[in-house]
Amino acid sequence: MEKKNYVLEPGRKIPVREKVDVLVAGGGPAGIAAAISAARLGVRTMLVERYGYLGGMITGSHVVWVLGVGDGYHPKARGIIQEIRQRLEPLEAVTPGNECGDYAVDAEVFKWQAAEMIEESGGQILLHTLACQPILQGNRVCGLYTESKSGRQAILASVVVDCTADADIAYRGGCPCDNQTHDVTLRIVLEGVDERKVKSFAAEEPRRYQEIIEKATSLNGGVLPNQTRYLKNIDVTDATSLSRTEIQVRKECFTALYFLRKNLPGWEKVRVRETGPQLGVRQSRRIHGEYRLTDEDLRTSRHFPDTVARLGVYLAANYVLYEPKGLDYDIPYRCLVPLEIDGLLVAGRCVSADYAAANSMRLIVPCLATGQAAGVAAAISVREKIQPRKLTPAKIQTALKKQGVYLGTD
Ligand SMILES: Cc1cc2nc3c(=O)[nH]c(=O)nc-3n(C[C@H](O)[C@H](O)[C@H](O)COP(=O)(O)OP(=O)(O)OC[C@H]3O[C@@H](n4cnc5c(N)ncnc54)[C@H](O)[C@@H]3O)c2cc1C
Repeated sequence: MEKKNYVLEPGRKIPVREKVDVLVAGGGPAGIAAAISAARLGVRTMLVERYGYLGGMITGSHVVWVLGVGDGYHPKARGIIQEIRQRLEPLEAVTPGNECGDYAVDAEVFKWQAAEMIEESGGQILLHTLACQPILQGNRVCGLYTESKSGRQAILASVVVDCTADADIAYRGGCPCDNQTHDVTLRIVLEGVDERKVKSFAAEEPRRYQEIIEKATSLNGGVLPNQTRYLKNIDVTDATSLSRTEIQVRKECFTALYFLRKNLPGWEKVRVRETGPQLGVRQSRRIHGEYRLTDEDLRTSRHFPDTVARLGVYLAANYVLYEPKGLDYDIPYRCLVPLEIDGLLVAGRCVSADYAAANSMRLIVPCLATGQAAGVAAAISVREKIQPRKLTPAKIQTALKKQGVYLGTD
């Protein structure tokens, strides 16, 4: 007899918690911008986030440098990207970066201010809530099933914006996706290294020092516990793989740490002060959208009639930023529109792009930009009662410009 590897979940009535116009899944940079921009257009907007705070990688993996504002020479991007900076500056929560306008944020202040910005715009926030599955009518998404301490609930919506970074909603709704891994990093912060003592030991006993470093790095995937580790080939859409990675990284870090405490002068009192609440994930699923942005589009500064963002940032595979400089490319609206499913838009690092282009699209500024565009498009789609796929790009562009977004002309 064939062995069953499934169970049938009994059908049950799921309480409808809310009915909104625009429902945003995921509260990272893309989701925050989507919720703000949709709510500002006067439609009932709600954002659901699985953790107890907003910010995505900014706050969950301490990725505090908001990169991609400029083109290597000058600032370029505006809109919510610029507003965040303007709000955080008086709170002394911004560290200015380069001549391109890139900046770092204080992650704790960002958690607070991101929520304020959404609520001031009129949007609702529901934290501690996992967006599990789209509610489908045929091929149209008309809300989400959620799970939280309140149990399983339904939130109905005219348009859902998938900002889960892993395209959870689009994928579960049947949109074809690529799933390619990139380096994964767990943020680990140490304290207590006595650098002076380490240096003098290295000078006095260079061979022994070298031996200790080699042993410690061999215990921790090739790096010291206070260096960034790039883990390869992790399927971050698989819970087993995520679990193994979390456990392995911590185990290896502490094994190396305790070895160093015992053997390397200057490390006797070193301890782990903090680890990120979530693994830092650079890439995973990307939707197949109405258009797939290519690396060549970025490198040749291609413009599109349905542009919803004009940017100039490029991040190479080797992490070199703004090389080439002076780019001036568009992100077309079609990259946010998934194939095969209606009632859904996608923003953030899972937009439709090839692997190399996605490496730039995953930076915080492009994610904020696609988030703002998706929020605006979702709101217009609700107001005009037209599916997102059928929207006239000019209307989205006009609304984005009213919100201060730069699209190539002022
Ligand atoms: C280690 C590392 C370093 C980086 N360094 C930089 C840098 O210096 N500068 C830069 O600009 N970019 C950097 N990046 C890239 C950037 O941080 C991310 O690509 C960006 O934050 C992606 O934004 P997002 O909104 O698409 O997704 P995320 O920031 O990942 O946010 C997604 C949000 O959705 C929530 N979520 C996911 N699934 C669900 C669900 N099913 N239901 C409810 N909520 C859900 C998550 O909890 C999260 O809050 C780095 C990335 C990593 C991993």
